[in-house]
Amino acid sequence: MPTGDDVPPPRPVRGRLRRAMTPGQPAEGAVVAPHAWRAARFMVIVAHPDDADFGPAATASRWIDAGSVGRLVCCTSGDQGGEDPEIDPLELAATREAEQRQAAAVVGYDEVRFLHQPDGALANELPLRELLVREIREFRPDAVFTHDPEVLFYQGSGVNHTDHRAAGIAAVDAVYPAARNPMAFPSLARAGFAPHKVRRLYLFWPGVPTAWVDIGAAIERKIDALRCHTSQLSVDAAFEQRMRDWAAEEGGAIGVASAEAFRLIVIDDDEEPSEPIGAKPAE
Ligand SMILES: [Zn+2]
Repeated sequence: MPTGDDVPPPRPVRGRLRRAMTPGQPAEGAVVAPHAWRAARFMVIVAHPDDADFGPAATASRWIDAGSVGRLVCCTSGDQGGEDPEIDPLELAATREAEQRQAAAVVGYDEVRFLHQPDGALANELPLRELLVREIREFRPDAVFTHDPEVLFYQGSGVNHTDHRAAGIAAVDAVYPAARNPMAFPSLARAGFAPHKVRRLYLFWPGVPTAWVDIGAAIERKIDALRCHTSQLSVDAAFEQRMRDWAAEEGGAIGVASAEAFRLIVIDDDEEPSEPIGAKPAE
C-alpha cells in the first residue's frame, strides 16, 4: 500500500473541469422547475475516481438521505491521473481507490465497485458492457447516472475526456437493451443475474440539460467528498467558491440557490407515482 509520502502533490483543477462547470442552455420545452422524482435504488457509473464527486454527488447524497440506496461503479481506477511518468500506475490506482472509497462514504453510497479497466484507454466494447450489465443486474437500480456521452466539446471550448464519453455510452448500452434482454450475455442469466429494467438515465455534465435537482445544502457534502481526492485536487477557499458558484449558476435555471443539472432520459414511465424527495420510502 502506498504511504503518505508516495502520494503525488495535489494539482490545480484542470481545464476539463472548469469547462464542465459551464452550464449548458436548457433544452427547448424542458420543464424548468425543481426535479421531484427520486429513485429507490440508483447506480452511478463513471470513468474515473473523482468523476462522481464532480458529477451527481450532491443529488446522490440528497436521495440517500431521503431513503434511496445508491451504488458507485468506477470503470477505471484513474491510474493515469498524474503528471509524473515515473509514478507506479498501480500505486496511483490504489491511492485513488482509497480516496474514492472515502468520498463514497461521505456521500453515503452502499458500496463502490472498481472494474479495473485501463485509464485513458476505456472502450465501449462487449467486455466492458458485460461487466456493467452484471453490476446492473446484481444491484437492480431504477435509475443510472452516467456521463453525457454526446458531449464531445464543452460549450465550444475544451474536449470531454475520451474515457468519459466511452463510460457514458457503455453505460447507456448496458442499460438498454442489454441489462433487460435475457438473451444478451446468456451466461449471466445462467449464473443468476436475471434481466433487469432500468427506467431512467440521468446524464451529468450535459450539453443540453433537461432536469435540475435542487441540492440545497448538499453542495457542502459535494465539496467534502471532493476534499477526499487529495492526489488530484487542492480544495482551498477559491476551489470551494467555484463549486458553490457552479451550483448557484445551475440553480439559477430553476430559481433555487443551488442545483445539479442533468439530461434526463425516461426509458419506462412509472406505473405508480414516485416518492418525492424528502419522503421516507414505504415500509
Ligand atoms: Zn474523469
